[in-house]
Amino acid sequence: MLAKGKIPATEPLIRVGIFLPEDQMQSVTIDFPDPDNYRISPRSCWPQSKTLTASIENGQLIANGREIAKITIQRNALTGDYKQPLIVHNVTAGRGFHWKKSISSSLLGDLEIRVADGNMLVINELPLEQYLSCVATSEMSAECPAALIESQTIVARAWMLANVEQKHRKLGFDVCNDDCCQRYHGTGFLTPQAITGAQATRGQVIMNNDQICDARYSKSCGGMMETFESVWGGSPLPYMQNIFDADRNLEWDKLPLSAENNARDWIDSTPNCFCSPKVVPEKELTKYIGGVDEAGRYFRWQFDYSQAELTQLLNQKLQIDANNIIDIKVIKRGGSGRLIDIKIEYLDSADVARSIPVHSEYNIRQTFHPSFLYSSAFYIEKSDIADNIPDKFSLYGAGWGHGAGLCQIGALGMALQGYKTAAILRHYYPGSRLVTIYS
Ligand SMILES: [Zn+2]
Ligand SMILES: [Zn+2]
Repeated sequence: MLAKGKIPATEPLIRVGIFLPEDQMQSVTIDFPDPDNYRISPRSCWPQSKTLTASIENGQLIANGREIAKITIQRNALTGDYKQPLIVHNVTAGRGFHWKKSISSSLLGDLEIRVADGNMLVINELPLEQYLSCVATSEMSAECPAALIESQTIVARAWMLANVEQKHRKLGFDVCNDDCCQRYHGTGFLTPQAITGAQATRGQVIMNNDQICDARYSKSCGGMMETFESVWGGSPLPYMQNIFDADRNLEWDKLPLSAENNARDWIDSTPNCFCSPKVVPEKELTKYIGGVDEAGRYFRWQFDYSQAELTQLLNQKLQIDANNIIDIKVIKRGGSGRLIDIKIEYLDSADVARSIPVHSEYNIRQTFHPSFLYSSAFYIEKSDIADNIPDKFSLYGAGWGHGAGLCQIGALGMALQGYKTAAILRHYYPGSRLVTIYS
């Protein structure tokens, strides 16, 4: 596993969670294009007809009719080629989202299979650069311009090696295969462009002072980047600030967007930003953005809820017993207009007025959508109000994701306008330096 704060002098191996305990899988099926290319331990787990199925019975891992503690599958030689990956079936993609689905992942490197919390745990260990070439295309399609694929690869590498979050350390892997960490669906979408992108930037990261940047990124900032501390709390990072995602000619003086009226004006407008449909038309986005997302409008969007729908949603999400939702009060917005603190006012089942706070952009997004709202940069318009009770709530919003660091659609806009990799990274991580840490 990666060590926190350590800058590797050579390419490291990394461990990626493929089946997580929360997926509640009780079996795994793996296809081997050529089992002779692998060392499989214990030997009793040798695949029958090029397929190995392991399952859990009474909490015990079983393969080929025998009980075992752990299965390891190792390539005989770690080669740099991308041929003949192992195929793992029923891998969860979009974990926790409404578009969650089951896919087959073609994986390079080694596998480890064991039981954790009564469920199947599958870990893929592989060289970082092979992982990165898969990440760049899992996140965005191969149609993307080279400068975008290179920028995305460098950012993904820096984020991995900065290794600040360590969300899955207890289970023995560095990152999971999904949006919780970085989307990694194996070699299924691997293209010559992605391999070239990884090779052209091999070992390159962005650094601030002597540390690798904790390079966060999201789909669309909505035109203004968010700060690190507004999303995750803690100390500000100098390279994640409120900056227009636009060239210097953008005329917009109603700042800061943390002020309510300014946020509303901002969300009601379509400024000429890199992530705006004026630069990247939304109907062309599907050509560039990977295949597992909903098609739709991301720069500016609208959701409508009836009183009954919103009451049911908030009752379920917040475990309250509201009869009616009365109002949603803004306590604090970040500098990109993202809500980071709100208070929901409601009448409970005895018609007593109550309120409940919701903190953080993440929790707000989770609260206001059956799965996850695009972003927390939104305002709410109430209508059809009778006896102080609105019948309808309309959410008007901007952007997709937390908005801090690189804006993927904005970086696409920059690349389509001819900006080079270094200029894109300078724009999204001001003050950072591009450094090669291993060759
Ligand atoms: Zn994760
Ligand atoms: Zn943007």
